[in-house]
Amino acid sequence: MSADKNPTRRSGDDLTLRRLVDRYGSPLYVYDLARVRTALEDLRASLPQPARIYYSLKANAHPCLVAELRRGGARAEVTSRGELAVALQAGHPAAELMYSGPGKVPAEIDEAIAAGLRTFSAESFGDLERIGAAADARGVTADCVLRINAAGAPGQAGPWTTGGPYRFGFDLDELAEHGARLLVKGVRIIGTHFVPLSNAGNEDVLLAELAQGVRTAARLRDELGIPLHLLDLGGGFAAPYATPGERPVYPGLRRALCAVLDEHLPGWRHGEPVVAFESGRHLVGDSGRLVVTVTDVRNSRGTTYAVLDAGVNHLGGLPGPGRLLPLAAQPLTALDRAADDTGDTGAADPSFVTLAGPLCTPADVRSRAVDLPGARPGDLLVLPNVGAYGLSASLPGFLGHPAPVEVVVDGGETVSATRLTLSRRIAEPRIAEPRT
Ligand SMILES: *Cc1c(COP(=O)(O)O)cnc(C)c1O
Repeated sequence: MSADKNPTRRSGDDLTLRRLVDRYGSPLYVYDLARVRTALEDLRASLPQPARIYYSLKANAHPCLVAELRRGGARAEVTSRGELAVALQAGHPAAELMYSGPGKVPAEIDEAIAAGLRTFSAESFGDLERIGAAADARGVTADCVLRINAAGAPGQAGPWTTGGPYRFGFDLDELAEHGARLLVKGVRIIGTHFVPLSNAGNEDVLLAELAQGVRTAARLRDELGIPLHLLDLGGGFAAPYATPGERPVYPGLRRALCAVLDEHLPGWRHGEPVVAFESGRHLVGDSGRLVVTVTDVRNSRGTTYAVLDAGVNHLGGLPGPGRLLPLAAQPLTALDRAADDTGDTGAADPSFVTLAGPLCTPADVRSRAVDLPGARPGDLLVLPNVGAYGLSASLPGFLGHPAPVEVVVDGGETVSATRLTLSRRIAEPRIAEPRT
């Protein structure tokens, strides 16, 4: 008897997932709050103390995850009205939130200020002016950190490279030349903000970038007089995505970074400046799994396709349809197969299959050559490490399949099961009718 068919060898974890699918259907996202707590503790242990950690809601704005991170002491970084609303509902005091992102429009800035939010990351002179105008109109002052597009340290890679033309943040030379434009009514500049890279699995690369942020902030303060009460060094803490593996740890980061801070900004230990970091994927990535069902297995000219009930509408829309994920699907141990294992699936017995979603577009191929011997319709597969940039970064409006149920568990206990819906409503006119 193979391990596959022996019920006593099935892990309790697989059983739990199977029960949840029986109950709520497939596809199904399952997030574990216990893992979120552990990730936050691990990250805190890797960082200098004292330091603030902002959770970037962009990675996953599920209210239960946001609330759990708040309970763990993280603040929240929001970039839209929707994320602002979730953060407030999760119990974050508005005054402790950071609002960032390029292209903030006056209406959303005003809404944030009206809610009591006071800290913004400003991306450009225009952004600064719009923040100032909105604050001034409400008779308050907005605290702004300037997002800096600084020349990066060598060795970085990926879409977050800085130094060249870039949509995000102030260029250093523009700050040097047009410093007077930083004097904006309604704005108090309180520091600088760096987002040098993303998903850095390599500790040396990460350290080099964060250290560069510290040095640049000190230089901007000393040479251009840019205030430095809050230094947001961004992050770049990595996590595996839709593939098995462990969240990286950064055992040497704390010590090395403390030394850099001590050298350039000795006041940091008593909060001058306050040092802050941001993280999305590292905090929630490994908390989430997606269970999917194989709906069809077919062979075309030597390639075996396993069609799943979830595609770019439910996972991995962010890189864009047509981009393959380094996806790895693990079969849920299949007890039900034991009895009917001679069944004819109508397909060649595949070992390597191409995973595809159910959407009517060639762009919904998810992954090639996944090792899934004997895949057949009805099999449940688990896609690990999809707690970040999963459903919220996908294309749920495309083709109109219902969104997967999202179940939140805490250890063994189910704390929430919800389904996101898109619904059409009558639009309110932008210009309100005068009230009588
Ligand atoms: C996206 C983003 C983050 C979070 O990135 P992760 O890679 O998920 O940690 C942090 N800060 C800013 C400004 C971002 O845009």
